Amino acid sequence: MTFDDLTATIKNERLRIDRDMLRLAYETAERAHKDQTRQSGEPYIAHSLAVANTLVQLRLDEETVIAGLLHDVPEDTAVTIDEIRKDFGETVATLVDGVTKLGTLKYRGMERYVENLRKMFIAMAQDIRVILIKFADRLHNLETLSHLPRPEKRYRIALESIEIYAPIANRLGMGEIKGRLEDLSFPYVDPNSYERTVRLVGDQLGDVTGYIDEVKNELRTELRERRIKPIDIHGRQKHIYSLYKKLQRPDIAGDITKVHDLVAVRIILKDIEDCYAALGIIHGLWRPLPGRIKDYIAQPKPNGYQSIHTTVFGPGGRIIEIQIRDKDMHNDAEYGIAAHWHYEETGKPKTGRVAVDRKLGWVRELAEWQKELENEQYLEALRIDAFSNRIFCFTPKGDVIDLPEGASAIDFAFAVHSDLGNQMMGARVNGKFEPVATVLRSGDVIEVVIDRNRVRPNPDWLPFVKTSIARERIRKAQREERDETNDPRFKPDD
Ligand code: MN
Repeated sequence: MTFDDLTATIKNERLRIDRDMLRLAYETAERAHKDQTRQSGEPYIAHSLAVANTLVQLRLDEETVIAGLLHDVPEDTAVTIDEIRKDFGETVATLVDGVTKLGTLKYRGMERYVENLRKMFIAMAQDIRVILIKFADRLHNLETLSHLPRPEKRYRIALESIEIYAPIANRLGMGEIKGRLEDLSFPYVDPNSYERTVRLVGDQLGDVTGYIDEVKNELRTELRERRIKPIDIHGRQKHIYSLYKKLQRPDIAGDITKVHDLVAVRIILKDIEDCYAALGIIHGLWRPLPGRIKDYIAQPKPNGYQSIHTTVFGPGGRIIEIQIRDKDMHNDAEYGIAAHWHYEETGKPKTGRVAVDRKLGWVRELAEWQKELENEQYLEALRIDAFSNRIFCFTPKGDVIDLPEGASAIDFAFAVHSDLGNQMMGARVNGKFEPVATVLRSGDVIEVVIDRNRVRPNPDWLPFVKTSIARERIRKAQREERDETNDPRFKPDD
């Protein structure tokens, strides 16, 4: 990566970045890192350029890209944050300072999890762009991780990426970044599972490419006949770590033939009307699998994700997932919160996207609340649920589960997976056994204890749930139980 590569990417993305400022930042970084090399033997500046380049690809603004070039300068060199402020202004200095402070964190496993997350939150609340720079930094560090001599250090960095960075990227709606962070880390965290999953995919994918082309062509023809013009139709392969996690699910139990979205066909359309029209056309063409239509347009995921997913018996009866979304939804799904700083060709940042605003809502709340608190009160405040109406709890593996205020361990179980709720027996909250109706607080780590023989949740739980998913499942169980008692086959003899 050279300075010319970076300017080529900027031109390619049609970003408006002041060339003199950019060059000044590059020269400052190059001079500051002059005597340093990366473990790979490359000059250090190659790392600064790679980070800035990723930020350009995310279509971020000038200040973020400049801060990306300078992000390691105050930590590793004689150039101070005051000098950066003098040359590049207050915002760039704040961003670089935020990244430097985050850089001093060391991940030491679960006991430090809440504390690490807290620091991430603080940094985000001040300026979410700090996190975006940190993501770009981490991506390049993971790409070059094999050059680190100590295996323990490689493992620690990869684990931290999966347990802290990826969930935050996900929460911010940055699906692509989350997938890349996980996939780059996976081989270092669990090399055997990684190898096994890659082999499994290779065997399964053998003939898929030709099939995808067939689906794409049929779709194109059919849509054209019905006068719908797709912006793009492409195949997308599931990220390897996300596939690995799906294979662990009880309903899949390691059987890759049960994973229907290993490869999906994605259709990008002009607007929502076209999305629903396309869905109708697809279902007319290929029979949908019952219960597999997910309308995340009408009901977006908590992180704002919108699309329609449907699984159909495609050409030759072969099962394939099709994802339908409009241009803005696609942009949001790929960039998430970063889309907020996207520059239009006019050079003005975009504003007013509803999904992005929703994502930013809880960060803003946090920022407001953070201002009023002393640092040491922060952890305690996490516990008293100052996220006005949301709480954040963790699985033992560190996945963040976002719940409404007042939610119980039962809500948590259903939020993780419906089987977990159905088979729930008890809950260990922060390592201690608690009743399932226990009301959770932000920062709690919950381990759901299950009985594999159970198939239905306890109907008496209904008063103790806050989420609609849990309520729905429990009501369904109540209905089933009632039907069984009314069913003559279950009636005792007179
Ligand atoms: Mn760095």
